[in-house]
Order: sequence, then structure tokens, then C-alpha cells
Amino acid sequence: MKVFDELRHDLEAYLEPEKIAAIEEAFLVAERAHEGQKRQSGEDYISHPIAVARILAGMHIDHQSIMAAVLHDVIEDTQIEKKSLAEQFGEEVADLVDGVSKLTQITFESRAEAQAENFRKMLLAMVRDIRVILIKLADRLHNMRTLGVLAPAKRRRIARETLEIYAPIANRLGMHNFYVEFEDLGFAALYPVRYRILKAAVRKARGNRREIVHEIEESLKKQLQKHHIQFEEIIGREKHLYSIYKKMRNKRIPFVEIMDVYAFRIIVNDVDTCYRVLGIVHNLYKPFPERFKDYIAIPKVNSYQSLHTTLFGPYGVPIEIQIRTKEMNQVADNGIAAHWLYKIKHHTPDKAQIRAREWLQGLMEMQESTKSPLEFIENVKMDLFPDEVYVFTPKGDILELPSHATAVDFAYAVHSDIGNSCIAAKINRRLSPLSTILSNGQTVEIITAPGARPNPAWLNFVVTTKARSNIRQLIKNQRRAESIELGQKLLERALAVFSLDKDKLTKEQFNVVLKQLHYKSVKDLYEAIGLGNQLPLVIARIFANDITHVDEKQTQQHKHQPLYIKGIQGMLVKFAECCRPIPGDPILGIFNRGYGLVVHVTTCQKIAKLSTDPEKCIDVQWEAEISGDFKVDLYIEVINQRGVLAQLATTIAAAQANIEDISIDNRDGRVNIVRITISVHNRSHLARIMRRIREVKVVTKISRQKPIY
Ligand code: MN
Repeated sequence: MKVFDELRHDLEAYLEPEKIAAIEEAFLVAERAHEGQKRQSGEDYISHPIAVARILAGMHIDHQSIMAAVLHDVIEDTQIEKKSLAEQFGEEVADLVDGVSKLTQITFESRAEAQAENFRKMLLAMVRDIRVILIKLADRLHNMRTLGVLAPAKRRRIARETLEIYAPIANRLGMHNFYVEFEDLGFAALYPVRYRILKAAVRKARGNRREIVHEIEESLKKQLQKHHIQFEEIIGREKHLYSIYKKMRNKRIPFVEIMDVYAFRIIVNDVDTCYRVLGIVHNLYKPFPERFKDYIAIPKVNSYQSLHTTLFGPYGVPIEIQIRTKEMNQVADNGIAAHWLYKIKHHTPDKAQIRAREWLQGLMEMQESTKSPLEFIENVKMDLFPDEVYVFTPKGDILELPSHATAVDFAYAVHSDIGNSCIAAKINRRLSPLSTILSNGQTVEIITAPGARPNPAWLNFVVTTKARSNIRQLIKNQRRAESIELGQKLLERALAVFSLDKDKLTKEQFNVVLKQLHYKSVKDLYEAIGLGNQLPLVIARIFANDITHVDEKQTQQHKHQPLYIKGIQGMLVKFAECCRPIPGDPILGIFNRGYGLVVHVTTCQKIAKLSTDPEKCIDVQWEAEISGDFKVDLYIEVINQRGVLAQLATTIAAAQANIEDISIDNRDGRVNIVRITISVHNRSHLARIMRRIREVKVVTKISRQKPIY
């Protein structure tokens, strides 16, 4: 009988004797049913349901929930059936016990599926009667408190589940006390060492803070008394350990900085006083602008109400202050459960209850429209985990990405091949840049093109490791492939000086050279040449077995052996921005060690000095058939008059060329220099355009080279 006494004592604080008697009856049935059963700790099993009931009694929950809590494991673990519970204690209690049992019973094949399905069942139960979830949370809380006796693997599994599922639910339902305890117990069980270290650090920091905390508290009290404010209490608050840990880990805020915030809660009797206290503390210490939040006027979804403000305290320390009434504080601690408090009269559901129901209703509707439990949990997580973003593929599959993920991250999340060949994205069917940051619920479609390649600039905005590592890898591979190709061409060209044909060289000849220069493969050799780490002419000499010095004739021959280039720029062949060569232009390549080949127009001013250096300079020629667009700059001198730009634009468009960029240089009042970057196919296309521009009346001069004045 002693087992029941403590619970009875708790119940006497708020329930009538006949209700306590009914609970005691339930206890007798449960005690008999669990007779002989032991907990892992060796205690009689009945101690567990009693402990669960006491947690709920501490929150003054109604007597039917307490009865169900006492009986919560009998359907699951004993011979007793729902029917007999209904006969003895009524449908309501039987339904509650049944609901809790159903949450416990379900077993699944995979961990992910189990979680999702459990979650769904749990929420299903919640909608029918939310008290089932209160009992389940209390059940889990007691199991967490007594976790120590379990085997380590099981302990970790339960702890993880608590952090992933139960803590977020408690938080969503506004049950702050549960939430904090779930997180700290889960943290301690999952990361015992980190927990211990952090706990010790907090204890030490608390010692250092004590004086300042006391000083602030005293000045707050004094000020309130001076204004004759009746206050319930002033409490110094601290963050719980797991929230400190999460802040340090996720936001990379150092421990000292987290501990350097002083937080107080002022509890008063009525709403009016809340606002008066706010005025008084703002007078005492200067408030941080824009840090004030009025959750009294606009409560949070979980019905939390309070005033929040941050002040500049003494010694420049920030002080966070919460001001609220006793009732609001109840809700803040117990959330939805605060509205299940036993009340003598039947009460109509209040706003918080209605809001909670709406939330659950929303989840239910979502659940009906999604078939797989996994998909459902993804949906639910949108509400529970705001740090993630959930987006849809065109087929309706859901992808979970970290917040700030972009269309490129999405593409890589779908498949690396999609990421590697993406060129644009459609977000909610509208064409959007690949760098667009995604938000919840968007449908994202990725447009790919065969042969498209990742842009190194993407590294500036992608957030997922998958995207990052794929892009890096591809750039590396691409660079190597291009170096090999370029190196091969350069060697062919040098061999021609010695009348050698690369394709006719034997494997043995290659092996001799590779061995001499310590390269593992022919590709490595080509890469070294392509990157400029080996001079092609020197290598060619080794092949030719020509040990004499390179003579002038050979150099000249080499210089005039052209290298054919395609129209496509890569990582190693680039077109100079200073002169922007286009097919048809006479061109010259400048080889920069490690950077590859830059192609200039032969008349480019910038290379005038270099063009005599045979090691750096390479004769290049356009390949015969080149298609594509090439950017070219035009400097057009025009008479300063209105509508000039429009005329130029129309003319260029009529010649089927695109304008890429325009800038205007105000020369004097009479003429302007307009620089227009256009894209053209080749030299004759450009000539056609220039001819048409020249025909425009206001144009006085046109040139591809920047005019010098
Ligand atoms: Mn249990």
C-alpha cells in the first residue's frame, strides 16, 4: 500500500476524495496485473506506472489521465484487455490506455521507417485525444530518468529517439519543462563525456557570474519596489546544457560568449503590470533597439506568452529579461498540458487548445495526402525543425536540405550526374538562377545539358558537402584532362621539328623517356607538359635522341608549328579579355606556367613585348569548323544626343547579335565613347555588324581597340 501513498499525497493537493478513490482502484488492478514483474533495475514493475502518474499529478492533470497513467502498461504487458478496462473504468480511460499501448506496440523493419511510423501513430493518437501524448511523454520521461540501468546500445538508441522525436514534440506543444529535461537527459546518455565537461564548465562559470547576477537582481528589485510594483518573483535564468551544446556546435558560438548573457524572468500578477515593469526596466538600463518582442499581444503558435527585452547592463553585459504573469509562466513551463489542468467546472477549450488542435489538424490533412510514413515525417519535420528546408522534386518526392541550400545543392542531392551537368533551375516552374536559395515547399526542377560542367564559382554559394566535394573533384579532373590534351598537342608540335610522329613512337621509346623523367604514365607526362612544368621541345629532343643544344633553326621551326585550338574555352585554354579574339582573327598563344594558354589577337598591345619569347609564345590557329558565340568589345564614338543607345541596340539586334554589356565613357560634351560587348560567331559576322553600326548617323568612329586620346 505504501507505493500508492506518495501519489495519493500529490493528488490530495487538487482532487476530490472520490476521484482519488477511483485512481486507487485503478492502482489495485495495475498492481495485481504487474505482480511478479520487475523492472531492469530490480524494482517492482508497478513503481514505473506510479512514477509516470506522479509526473502528471505534479502538473495537476485530470483524474482520468492519472488512471490511464497508472494502467498504461497493462494492455501491453499483462493479460488484461481493453474491454475489461472499459467495463471497470469507463470508455474514456480504456481509450487512453489503448492509445498509449498502441504507441508502444509498433515494431518496424528499419530504424527510419520505425521512427516515421511511430511518429505518425503518435500524432494520430494525439488528434483523437491529446492526453494520450501527455501520458506517453511522461512515460518516456520516467524511462529517460531511469535510463542508466540499460545496456549502452539500448541507452543510446532511446536517447537518440528522445532527442529526435520526443523533445521536438514537447517543444512544439510548449511543454518547456519536459523539453529541457528530455534534451539534457538525452544529451547525457548520448554524449556522456561532452555532457560532463560542459556541466563542469557551466558550474565554474556560474561561480564567476554570481556577483554580477546578484547585483543586477538587487537593482531590479529596488527599482520595482520604488515604483510600488507587486511582483511574484525575479529569477535568474540559465540555458540548459543541451541548448548551450547545440549553440556551440551549430552556430559555432564560443562557450564564453554564450555564458556572457545574463537572463532574468520577472513574474507579476497581471498583464497590465507586465507592461509597467517593461517601462521601468527600460528606464533602469538602456534597451537594445529592435530586440523587444511582445508575445503577450501576439502569442507563439504553441500559445507561449511573455514580453522579451534585452538591456545594456552594468559593465556592458547584455541582460535578457522576460516579463510575464503567473498563468503565462504556467503555460510556458507546461504548454498544452497547462490547459489540461484539472478544473472543477467543465471549461470550454481556450485559445491555446484550439491552436494546438489546428496544428494537429494540419498535420492530419498532410498525413492523408502523403502515402508513405517516411514522406509524412519529412512533412512534419518542416514544422519541428526550422533549420532544414524541404523541397519537392517534379515527381513530388521530398528532399531534405540544410537551410540556405541552393538549386545547385538540390541538383547534387538528386544525383551527382544532375549536379555535374546542370545549367539552370525552375523553381515553382519559373526559371531561376542556380544560386537561388530554396525555401520550404518549393518544387524544384533542374535543367541539364549534355557536356555542361560545374562552374568553380558555385563553390561560393553551395552549402552541402556533397555538392562541394563533387564540384571540387570535377574541377580537378577537368583540369587534368585538359592539361593532358594540351600537353599532347604541344608535344606533337615539338616532335614535328625533329620529323617525328607521336603515333609512330614505340612503347619502348616512351618507357625510356618516362623512366628518365620519373613519370608513372604517359598521361602524367602530357599533364606536366600541359601545365608548363616540362618544355615540349626538350622532351621532343629526348625522343629524337638529339643531345645537341636547341639551335635557332629548331626554335624558329618550332615557333611556327601551329597549335590548333577549338572555339571552346576551358580551364587551360582561355581567350584574353584585353583583345577578345574571335574565329578568323590572327591569333597567338601565350603560355603561362601552371595557368595554361591564353589566346590573344596578334596585334594586341599587351603581348607586344612577349611575342619574341619563343618559350612562352606559341603559334596557334583556329580549327576549321568552329561554331558558337564569342564575346567581342566594340568602342563606338557617338555624338552626344538622346536615343543613341536605343539606335545602337536596335541595329545590333537586327544583325542577329546579342549585347552582353554596355558602358559609357563621357569624353566631352559633344561625343561619348560607348563600349558594347556583343557576342558574334566569327570575324565576318562581326564585320557585318560593324558595317551596319557605321551606317548609323550619330556614329563617328568604331573600333575593336580602345581608342587612345
Ligand atoms: Mn511505460
